[in-house]
Amino acid sequence: MIMLAKKPNTAEPAADATANTANITPLVEKFFGTESPLRNAEKHGYPKYEERPQQREMALNIATALEKGENLCIEAPTGIGKSYAYLVPAALFAKKHSLPVIVSTETINLQEQLVHKDIPVLDKMIEGGFKAALAKGRSHYVCLRRMHFAQEKAKEELFDDNVAGGIRDVARWISGGGEGDRSQMGFQTDPYSWSMVCCETGNCMGPKCQHYRDCFYWRARRTWDEADIVVTNHALLFTSIKVAGSSEYSLLPESCAIVFDEAHTIENEASSHCGLRLNKLGFESFLRKLFDPDKSRGIFFKGGTAGIEIRAAVSNILELSSLYFNSIDNIIHDRKDGTTRFRNPGFVQDLLSEELSSLSKLIQKACELESDENASTELKSYIMKTDAFANEFHNFTCMTLENHVYWAERGERGKTELFAAPLDIREILGENLFNGQRPVVLTSATLSVKKSLQYFCGRIGFAAGESVMLDTVFDYASQMKIYIPKDIAPPEHQNYLDELCDGIRRYVSRTHGKAFVLFTNFEHLRACAEKLRDFFKEKGITLLVHGDGLDRTRMLDKFRKDVDSVIFGAASFWSGVDVPGESLSNVIITKLPFLVPSHPLVEARSETIEKEGGSSFTDYQLPEAILRFRQGIGRLIRTKTDRGIVAILDSRITKKSYGKAFLSSIPECEVIKEE
Ligand code: SF4
Repeated sequence: MIMLAKKPNTAEPAADATANTANITPLVEKFFGTESPLRNAEKHGYPKYEERPQQREMALNIATALEKGENLCIEAPTGIGKSYAYLVPAALFAKKHSLPVIVSTETINLQEQLVHKDIPVLDKMIEGGFKAALAKGRSHYVCLRRMHFAQEKAKEELFDDNVAGGIRDVARWISGGGEGDRSQMGFQTDPYSWSMVCCETGNCMGPKCQHYRDCFYWRARRTWDEADIVVTNHALLFTSIKVAGSSEYSLLPESCAIVFDEAHTIENEASSHCGLRLNKLGFESFLRKLFDPDKSRGIFFKGGTAGIEIRAAVSNILELSSLYFNSIDNIIHDRKDGTTRFRNPGFVQDLLSEELSSLSKLIQKACELESDENASTELKSYIMKTDAFANEFHNFTCMTLENHVYWAERGERGKTELFAAPLDIREILGENLFNGQRPVVLTSATLSVKKSLQYFCGRIGFAAGESVMLDTVFDYASQMKIYIPKDIAPPEHQNYLDELCDGIRRYVSRTHGKAFVLFTNFEHLRACAEKLRDFFKEKGITLLVHGDGLDRTRMLDKFRKDVDSVIFGAASFWSGVDVPGESLSNVIITKLPFLVPSHPLVEARSETIEKEGGSSFTDYQLPEAILRFRQGIGRLIRTKTDRGIVAILDSRITKKSYGKAFLSSIPECEVIKEE
């Protein structure tokens, strides 16, 4: 019998996580020593191994922390080979325990690099090999039971032709040998159709299901249970923390240690996934699955007296939903930044939660009359979701979650989103991560501010462990030059955009393209792109503009192939992007990346610091900006052979006293101030 994974973060410590019996340091020393098996990597067709003392130091630090059951925060600059440095001790540690080590990353790119490149090499090099698995959320997999159920319902004409076609396409793929993982599907299906056939929390019969043995999701989970390393992402990890205890099955297996790579994002990731997020589109699509009055379709389109009551209730809630979101849109309407913070309950009437609770009772009644187990499982999940929406609308409108910040934001395509986020995630992380149940390792290339990890560790409440900063392996003095032109108007000046464009022309010309031009907002990015399109045309340089239709992955592919091309990129290009070689020889920082002070979460965090007697600028906004600035500059030098320039087009770096703090955070290299 397959044992289901225990829920993580229960009060009991992981059975063997604190046993401290695993003496892995000698093995790690040997692995990164003069007789390292990595020296033969080239013979096996893998890239040539390059000895780096920092990599060895990092691996040994991690081995020691794991052995002692302590936490570790370690800044590992680009180029030291940090993934090997944590994977080796993690694999050796897990092999000595019955539970896996979870490795969590922010980006899919890094997960793919770990699973498809690094782990296969190390598996061959570590004695006896090790097992690894990629853990994704349930909704990535087809649920066979739901797929058959949806096919039946399609025959009863409960879905429109488009949805019925989507369900048919997925069923055809599965009967043709499809492996049930959406990422391997090879064709697109609309979100509605997918939502009718995918696995869902609260909609799984587990071992009682007739498809359990062949179930794609549970098959994947069995590989997690057998794995030494389970690779996942921060979103799933923090969601698993949020829902721990509320679901029959945990989202991730119990672990003997957790390693966070790209740990610089964990404050925001934890805040976003441990909070609340609602939007009109998602809410109304859920209701329309029950009954769509415009299309006369939905699960309750037919179905006796219960169906009549439910259809009336859904139609009523759809109307109330429009009223509710319109009231919020009216509040947001005149806000230039598209956000509104709510400080007291009563900003809109709670029109939805009671109606949703009544709807839940009606579905419950229908469920009690249902003799088919498949149908009643499906209905139970609708009851659970309806109750969850009722709670969330109540919690948001009445602001019942303590120490949370509440706000509404005009989302993409004008769709309003509602948020509640914990103001301080230290307590959540203290209870769930830094609680002594298992060692936790945090690493990233950029964690320090003013050559110290104190700021980062303080923000997330890192405790019970050491913090370490490793030296760079690059020779920045010979690889990078910084240019700071003197006379660019400040951002609030009327000539700012013209002067900024002059600066971009000047520095892009120095490298004939091959540049990232990094912006802090889309408004300036689009305005500069418009002003400079002809310039790039004349120069024969391809301009790739963030937000012009191409997604980030495709923009980067084009950028790598077209060596002279230039990217105008906003926030997501400042970090997590790796372009080694000539294609990226120039990084232009258009503006120092301060957070938007009026954003509700930034504003609330700033207020808390001030209330506690600190300075929100010095203790929060400046260090955050320095971290982003370092990340932006960090795009340039990715290997020992990379060379290039950075141009900083924000005169505040020389004119304001805080500019020195930015300059002192740059690796030592030549800084040229130009006229
Ligand atoms: S075991 Fe759960 S997820 Fe798998 S097919 Fe059955 S109900 Fe669906």
